[in-house]
Amino acid sequence: MSIKPARTRIAPSPTGHMHLGTARVALYDYLLAKKTGGQFILRIEDTDLKRTVPGAEQEIFDGLRWLGLQYDEGPDVGGKFGPYRQTERREIYQQHAKILINNGSAYPCFCAPDRLEKVKQEQNARKENPHYDGTCRVLAPDEAARRIANGEAYTVRFKMPHDGVTVAHDHLRGDITIENKQLNDYVLLKSDGLPTYHLAAIVDDHEMQITHVLRGSEWLGTFPLHVNIVRAFGWDEPIWIHLSVFLKPSGKGKMSKRETAAAMKDGYSIFIKDMEELGFTPEGVLNWSALMGWGVAEDDVMTTAQMLDRFSVDGLTPSPAAINFQRLDHFNATHIRLFTATDLAARLKPYLIREGLNVDEDALLKIIPLIRERLVTLDDCIAFGGFFFKDEVTLAPEDLIAKGLDAKQSAEIARKSYEILSALASMDHASAEPPMRAYVESSGLNINQIFGIIRVAVTGQKVSPPLFESMEIIGKEKCLQRIKNAIGILEKI
Ligand code: GLU
Repeated sequence: MSIKPARTRIAPSPTGHMHLGTARVALYDYLLAKKTGGQFILRIEDTDLKRTVPGAEQEIFDGLRWLGLQYDEGPDVGGKFGPYRQTERREIYQQHAKILINNGSAYPCFCAPDRLEKVKQEQNARKENPHYDGTCRVLAPDEAARRIANGEAYTVRFKMPHDGVTVAHDHLRGDITIENKQLNDYVLLKSDGLPTYHLAAIVDDHEMQITHVLRGSEWLGTFPLHVNIVRAFGWDEPIWIHLSVFLKPSGKGKMSKRETAAAMKDGYSIFIKDMEELGFTPEGVLNWSALMGWGVAEDDVMTTAQMLDRFSVDGLTPSPAAINFQRLDHFNATHIRLFTATDLAARLKPYLIREGLNVDEDALLKIIPLIRERLVTLDDCIAFGGFFFKDEVTLAPEDLIAKGLDAKQSAEIARKSYEILSALASMDHASAEPPMRAYVESSGLNINQIFGIIRVAVTGQKVSPPLFESMEIIGKEKCLQRIKNAIGILEKI
């Protein structure tokens, strides 16, 4: 890899939710740019007006920022190669289409859409791959100029060489050779004056001085076309890197709409906007996606800084990667364990607030060591620690009855525990635990029976962080009040 500063770009189309695949390309782009002291650029490819979705562009801005992949140039941050939205660059593409017409690499095409449709159907019937039949390729230039002057609608098509082969070089896959007769005269400029991806991306990558084009392998099919366009302009090619595809968890094919919806039901998503809501951290998502297409060990836990240290485009791999949400859980949980207590507390707070809880920051900091090891997603803090921030807990009466005992016996245990705990000067765990253990010993009952009743009384749930540490944080007054409520409930059964 050259040590020249790299200029990389992520070029999403605002046609739907920002996908995990976009995040992964953006990450590699970012790493390559930062590693070489270059720039990472965001370009919005919005020339397909029919498919543009309102709000999708903002989702890309927000998604990249949430991931911490701040771009150096882009529509909302500016830069000296702007504008960075393709619909604001129409004239640039029109001028470039003219350059290709003038140098004989492209031609105006006046074929009406219904004629093209008919040609396609005839080719289908003959079992041929659909391709333009070349009607306007052979029009004399002055005839074409006359028709344009007459106001006839036209597109601009690339004049693909018919003879020989095209050799396109991909950094991960090596040389890809294709016979030119298999290639089509693709449309570069549509009749509305807007470019197709093929022209716009090539022109912009050149104008924006992009050195490395990292993109999805769905572009491999038209890769020879793109290489031909660059050469027709007489430009140097960027380094092309077609990344691996994402497969659905079974490894068979791509994620469908149905599987995406099913993942969401299980608390997972392939859309970046959902990740935060589902309790995933940018660190977890980045680490997970980084490893789907980068040949480092499967278990490598890395922050962005550590990735920067180790990244090289030579380490990227073209083999497909199956999406594995259990790995996302693994990386998310692992990063949660690496955050400082203050950082983690700040990240948990919004989830507790979202749940309508009144968060006391000191208490939150104290509960971090009790719950951290149990968190897979950030919103797990509600299940494990929500009760700390409730004024009252809701008790299910049947949960208060210990296994093997009845309501009367359980009430007796609760009363005895109340007596022991209310006699203490404070509810710190070092003071509360020994007398309660002594009580278990003398009662001849099992520890789970006694502590279980108190746990449900104080936390409202059967599973909780360590009981006495939790009671210390909740405080003596609240604990006793909750046990008293539980006694009331048990006595009424
Ligand atoms: N707009 C293209 C897409 O969203 C970008 C592909 C590229 O990176 O060149 O797939």
